[in-house]
Amino acid sequence: MRSPKTTIAAATALLARRLDELGRVTDEPGRLTRTFLSQAMEQANLVVGDWMKEAGMSVREDDTGNLIGRLEPKNAAAKTLLLGSHLDTVRNAGRFDGALGVVLPIVALAELKRRDVELPFAVEVLGFSEEEAVRFAGAYIGSKAYTGTLRAADLKLRDGRGNTLREVIEAHAGRPFVLPRAAHARKNLLGYVEVHIEQGPVLEDKGLAVGVVSAIASQTRGRITFRGKAGHAGTTPMSLRRDALAGAAEFVLAVEAFGRATRNLVATVGTAQVPGGAANVIPGEAIVSLDVRHPDDATCARAVKDLVQHAQTIARRRKLGFVWEQTMSHAATPCDAELNRALAASVRAVQGPCPVLVSGAGHDAVVVSRIAPVAMLFVRCREGLSHHPDEFASPKDLGVALEVVVDLLQRLAAEHA
Ligand SMILES: [Zn+2]
Repeated sequence: MRSPKTTIAAATALLARRLDELGRVTDEPGRLTRTFLSQAMEQANLVVGDWMKEAGMSVREDDTGNLIGRLEPKNAAAKTLLLGSHLDTVRNAGRFDGALGVVLPIVALAELKRRDVELPFAVEVLGFSEEEAVRFAGAYIGSKAYTGTLRAADLKLRDGRGNTLREVIEAHAGRPFVLPRAAHARKNLLGYVEVHIEQGPVLEDKGLAVGVVSAIASQTRGRITFRGKAGHAGTTPMSLRRDALAGAAEFVLAVEAFGRATRNLVATVGTAQVPGGAANVIPGEAIVSLDVRHPDDATCARAVKDLVQHAQTIARRRKLGFVWEQTMSHAATPCDAELNRALAASVRAVQGPCPVLVSGAGHDAVVVSRIAPVAMLFVRCREGLSHHPDEFASPKDLGVALEVVVDLLQRLAAEHA
């Protein structure tokens, strides 16, 4: 019989191969793009569904294109452990973001099957159909549908062709769409574990392959409009100007300074527009975005309030009109202490040190936390790069992550035996 070490090496090679294969399933020739209910998403579900079947799972797809593989336990009354992530991508994506969290658990379950380990609970591996908000501007369609938190308002969202989310879902499912209830009641779930590339530089900085996530940061996004007065750039004296862009520029630098001065806070102005702008016109209007994140809800909310107030002060001093519109806000999602204890024990068993990170990016785990305790394992990615074709996690790191999940499943099996 082969030792676990040699089988984990073979399983790691299989995982890397499958991520390459899935990375070639795309809507756009020459680059990786898979968006909600597209042809490539259907193809991805077929490919990954076959891997699920090979690992002994029954496979189904719900009306919103979520791929669900299920492994039944001997005891039909046992609870269910969820593992997964999303199969959609941004445009011109890398092959690890999302896909890793779906393919890795499948390989881990196949590895346990090879070792004749039987789990005393059911397992569902989830390939969510939408997380990246590319086709529709609202993210998490897949996990919202799965957790019964998709709302009627979501169905009115329109894609670039003007089709509503409801129309797109109904065309795909071939029947009228009814807002789904949660796939499981909380009391029937052991938890949800999501493996994801870090999308940041912390693990690389620490020289470690994997880390455990303590919380997914609270996040607020919005838009600030400064309104001044457009005027001729040659004939309006400096003292008589109300330059909206100059006000916005002052705000951009204030946001950066504020972020630097507050521990664990990240604050970003990522877009700036000057509608009707021209080289010889004093900007009459400037619109900037604001994105603020912090692991603690109250600190995040206070930061947003302070920054908006600061923008208002700038506007008042410069005699500019001012409008703040909040476009998105979600509370921090703490990861489950008990699941994290088991996950950290597995990380220590495989890797030694167990770094704990805050996730500054949102993940499906945020939505799934509404029906289950959640935990996340982050995997180092080169230069923290994601949402880019050069996104890369080394086979060695994939092996560590795989071993951690195999260990975690066995650990949970022993706890729930
Ligand atoms: Zn992702």
